[in-house]
Amino acid sequence: AEAFNAAVAAARPLNAFITETPDHALAAAAQADRDRAAGTLRPLSGVPLGIKDLFCTRGTQTTAASRILEGFTPTYESTVTANLFAAGAGMLGKLNMDQFAMGSSNETSAFGNVISPWRRPGDTAPLAPGGSSGGSSAAVAARIAPGATGTDTGGSIRQPAAFTGISGIKPTYGRCSRWGVVAFASSLDQAGPMARDVRDCAILLEAMSGFDAKDSTSLDLPVPAWERSLSPDLRGKRIGVPREYRVDGMPAEIEALWEQGIAFVRDAGAEIVEVSLPHTRYALPAYYIIAPAEASSNLARYDGVRYGLRELPDGAGLQDMYAATRAAGFGAEVRRRILIGTYVLSAGFYDAYYTQAQKVRALIARDFEQAWATCDLLLTPTAPSAAFALGEKSADPIAMYLNDVFTVPSSLAGLPAMSVPAGLDAQGLPLGLQVIGRPLDEQGVLDAGL
Ligand code: GLN
Repeated sequence: AEAFNAAVAAARPLNAFITETPDHALAAAAQADRDRAAGTLRPLSGVPLGIKDLFCTRGTQTTAASRILEGFTPTYESTVTANLFAAGAGMLGKLNMDQFAMGSSNETSAFGNVISPWRRPGDTAPLAPGGSSGGSSAAVAARIAPGATGTDTGGSIRQPAAFTGISGIKPTYGRCSRWGVVAFASSLDQAGPMARDVRDCAILLEAMSGFDAKDSTSLDLPVPAWERSLSPDLRGKRIGVPREYRVDGMPAEIEALWEQGIAFVRDAGAEIVEVSLPHTRYALPAYYIIAPAEASSNLARYDGVRYGLRELPDGAGLQDMYAATRAAGFGAEVRRRILIGTYVLSAGFYDAYYTQAQKVRALIARDFEQAWATCDLLLTPTAPSAAFALGEKSADPIAMYLNDVFTVPSSLAGLPAMSVPAGLDAQGLPLGLQVIGRPLDEQGVLDAGL
């Protein structure tokens, strides 16, 4: 009990948890002791995890870091957390995040910024832990939890992992059930693990994944034994380096890191091939139409009646109650996304924006399919920069969106992709490299990450 209380206390200066649940972790640890005595240990017996506050947890407040869900206590368990608990894991707490998973720095949370455990030497400016899974990345990087759940719609597992020097994998769309995960953009949302290394990610991903009849896009496939099959041997693998990811203005140290990563995989036996993904530069604009469009539809359910917050001004009618609740409950970035989403879906603009973005999405998916003719995996930087300071980009949404340039294309195509720590920048901050794989090739991605 002392260790778990100390762990959640250590997370407070980072503001990593929205809700602390050390007793849940303690109960799992006690069960692990009984399992050990009985010889029935499970893959995650007693492991205390952090759970992003986007996963509904039975009997524990789930907020998506929004005021509109404050006080919402689900009566059901998300499939992913149910799977982790069935494998023996416990929960240290519900982790802070960007509100409704919209953001790249954890600054859109209604519960305050998460502070990265990293600092620039000689500089006290607090750094962003990345987002939207910023509580997850901070808690794992600070060694408060050995692993955490994240979700990734356009990079929210991979970019925070890169910013904090940990590993994180977004599996193929459909591997992890979305049931009980608060929806952002349903055609893109995927859960995945964040942990210290690739092996821990493989163990956690195995426990999280699997077919779920309650999610209509769940893949009805067995879960491979990823961890047991891990191999650092890349002989016979062709690793593609996409030309279009050499974007203008990319810092020289990111280029250098990428070159070093290419040398690593070459040393491990891989053959390097240059590939082209010609529609890459349209990925961000397409994503920032599709994701808000889906979000505006998904977030229509927060009406002040069914969940959490209700603002009922004196003498207010139903419409006034909706308006007052949504104005008070949603943060600025969430309101921006709802406005963009409803605009691009409106009758007069639907074809110009939404239909066009869907066509671009198909072209991006086709780029990847064509690349798989000449390579088995792709290697790219995870993000175009190291962690930036809190506040540095928060006034400029476009600058913030540009940080997703390398993670969004594989999200639009539903591909498995992982970020692994690959070095430090000149100031000693961690940098990540991304491995992208064919649909269902989590094994290839994990092996290259190793
Ligand atoms: N930064 C991206 C966004 O704000 C991705 C978020 C995510 O993957 N959940 O939409």
